[in-house]
Amino acid sequence: MRAEIITIGDELLIGQVVDTNSAWMAERLNESGIELYQITSVHDDREHILKALDDAFSRADIVLTTGGLGPTKDDITKHVMCEYFGTTLVEDSRVREHIHELYKERPDVLNRLTATQWLVPESAKILTNRVGSAPIMVFEQTGKLLVALPGVPHEMKIAMREQVMPFLEFRERSQSELQNGASAYSLEASGEIIHRTMMLYGIAESTLAIRIEEWENALPTTMHLAYLPKDGIIRLRLSSYGEATKEEIEQQIANLKPLIAGNLIATEDLPLETILGNQLKARHQTIATAESCTGGRLAAALNAQSGASAYYMGSVVAYDNTIKEQVLGVKHSTLEKYGAVSEQTVREMAEGVRALMNTDYAIATSGIAGPTGGTPEKPVGTVWIAWATPDGTTAECYHFGVAREREQITQRAVTAALVELIKITKH
Ligand code: ATP
Ligand code: MG
Repeated sequence: MRAEIITIGDELLIGQVVDTNSAWMAERLNESGIELYQITSVHDDREHILKALDDAFSRADIVLTTGGLGPTKDDITKHVMCEYFGTTLVEDSRVREHIHELYKERPDVLNRLTATQWLVPESAKILTNRVGSAPIMVFEQTGKLLVALPGVPHEMKIAMREQVMPFLEFRERSQSELQNGASAYSLEASGEIIHRTMMLYGIAESTLAIRIEEWENALPTTMHLAYLPKDGIIRLRLSSYGEATKEEIEQQIANLKPLIAGNLIATEDLPLETILGNQLKARHQTIATAESCTGGRLAAALNAQSGASAYYMGSVVAYDNTIKEQVLGVKHSTLEKYGAVSEQTVREMAEGVRALMNTDYAIATSGIAGPTGGTPEKPVGTVWIAWATPDGTTAECYHFGVAREREQITQRAVTAALVELIKITKH
C-alpha cells in the first residue's frame, strides 16, 4: 500500500512556514508499515491542487493532504476536492453541533464564515476534528483513498493519532487479509518496515562510508542504509522493507557495531539531551553550565528535556569577563594572561559553576562565534569547552570553521559539549 502526502498552502512555497506536517506524518506512516512514496507542496490554487492529486494517484493508492480547510477565501481545498470527486457540499448536522460546542464560550466566532465549516462534501466520510472546526474528509473511489486534514499542526496531529492512523491500519489489515485469503493477519506477510538508527559523532560522513563499505555492500537488497548528518552528528539508519525479520536486522547491527564503536553515542534516535538526561538520572547525579559563546543554548537544550529538574541545577550565561570573574570566580590574572577564549578560562568557568551550584558535573564554553572577533591565533569558530567532573576537569579546543555561520558554530559547540559528557557518564 503506497501513500503520498500533499501539503497545501502558499505560505509553504514562499518560505514563511516550514512544512513540518509531512515530516511528522511520514514518521507515523512508516511506523505503521505504510510506504510513503512522495511528498509534494502546492499553492492554494485550484489547478495546482488538481494536478497534484492526479499525479499522486498515478503513483499511490492513498493520498493525505494538509491545509486549506479554513473558512476564509484563501482556503479552497474543500471546494477543489468536491470538484475532483464530482460531489457537492451539504450541511452536516454533527459537524454543526460540534462547532457550536467548540465555540460555546465565544459566540462571536459563530459567524457566517464559520458556518461554512459544517458544509461537507456529500460523498465524503467525515472524521471529527476534536480540537478545531475544519472537518476531516475521507474520499474513497475505485480503490483510491484521499484524506484531507487541517493545516494547523496541532489539529492535524490529534486527528492523525486518534482517527486517521487507526482507520488506515484497519483498512490495510482488512485488505491484506482479503489478498492473502488468510484468517490471521501477520505483519511479516504484509511487509513490515523496520528502521534502526545509530547515532555517531566525531567522524566525517565519507570516512564513515569508507570504513563500513564492505559491510554495507554485503547488505541484502531488501535492506537500505541511509546517512543523515546534522550539526556534527551522523544518524545512520538501517531500514528493511518487508522480507527480513527483526533478528536478521539485529544481526546486521551486531556486525556493524565493532566497526563504529569509537564513534557510537547511541543505538537509537534520541535528542542528545535525552540521552544525557537518562544517564544522569540513572546515576543520581547533577549538572550545571557556564556559558559564554553558546549564550544559554546549552541551558535551553538541557531544559528541553521533561523531568530535567531531577539533574539539571542551573546555568550562568557569563558573556562579559566581569561576570566570569564576579559570578564564576575566574581569576582576573587568568583572563589577562590567556584571554576569555582559552583552556585556562573555560576550566575555571566549569569549576566555578560546579562549586557555585554544588553539582557533580559542569560544562563551560567560551569561543569566537563570529562573524567578527577572530584573530590569526584564534580564528572565528575556535571554541574551548571544559567538563568539570568528580574525577577532575578536562578541556578541549574545537575549530568549527570560518565557513560556518554564527548559529551553526554555537550549535556545534552545544553538540560537542553534550556528546563528551554523554561519553564521560556512559558507564
Ligand atoms: P485553518 O482552519 O486554521 O485555516 P487550514 O486547514 O486552512 O486551517 P491553513 O490555513 O492552510 O490550514 O494553515 C494554518 C496554519 O497551519 C498555517 O498558518 C501554518 O502556520 C500551519 N501550517 C499549514 N500547513 C503546514 C505544514 N505543512 N507544516 C507546518 N505548518 C503548517
Ligand atoms: Mg492555508
